[in-house]
Amino acid sequence: MKCPVCKDDLLNHVSLEENVPAYTCSQCHGIWISSGPYLDWLERNGKTLPDMPCMDVQIPEWDSQGFKLCADCGKILSRYRVLPNTKFVLDHCGHCNGVWFDRGEWETMIAHNLLGKINQFFTNEWQVQLREEETKAELDRVYAEKFGPGDYTRIKEVRNWLKDHPHKAMLLAFLHADNPYGL
Ligand SMILES: [Zn+2]
Ligand SMILES: [Zn+2]
Repeated sequence: MKCPVCKDDLLNHVSLEENVPAYTCSQCHGIWISSGPYLDWLERNGKTLPDMPCMDVQIPEWDSQGFKLCADCGKILSRYRVLPNTKFVLDHCGHCNGVWFDRGEWETMIAHNLLGKINQFFTNEWQVQLREEETKAELDRVYAEKFGPGDYTRIKEVRNWLKDHPHKAMLLAFLHADNPYGL
């Protein structure tokens, strides 16, 4: 099998942490995971994987740029960002679902308990959610800058307090009115 980065027959079979069947490149130390063996593994182990939110993701320093071919079927791999507000990118084959991890990327997956979610990264649902989270983070930054941290904290508290308040409409009208005591 050819390494997608080194483009040579350098991939050797390896059993990774949690016994995920994979191939590793003896030169660039990237990792290739074929879809079939991964799905078999997931079926056997998936339910025992802990579900943990991924925060403060440590991103590998190295990411191979450029054109890569699938180690299994030879089609061109597509690059997908995986986690919001990071540059963490994986290469995926849309034809056979194989995935390429550059050196260090697999360790990031382990560290954040993402082993059971590999196939989800490449779904429309995951990608939409990723963009929504990024928009939210960007607006949060803009509001904090515009309002100032103190006022922003305060308005968020007011918003929370109003959210499910039984007199929400009346309270808002009170706030909006120039003179809530006039007739
Ligand atoms: Zn390689
Ligand atoms: Zn493929």
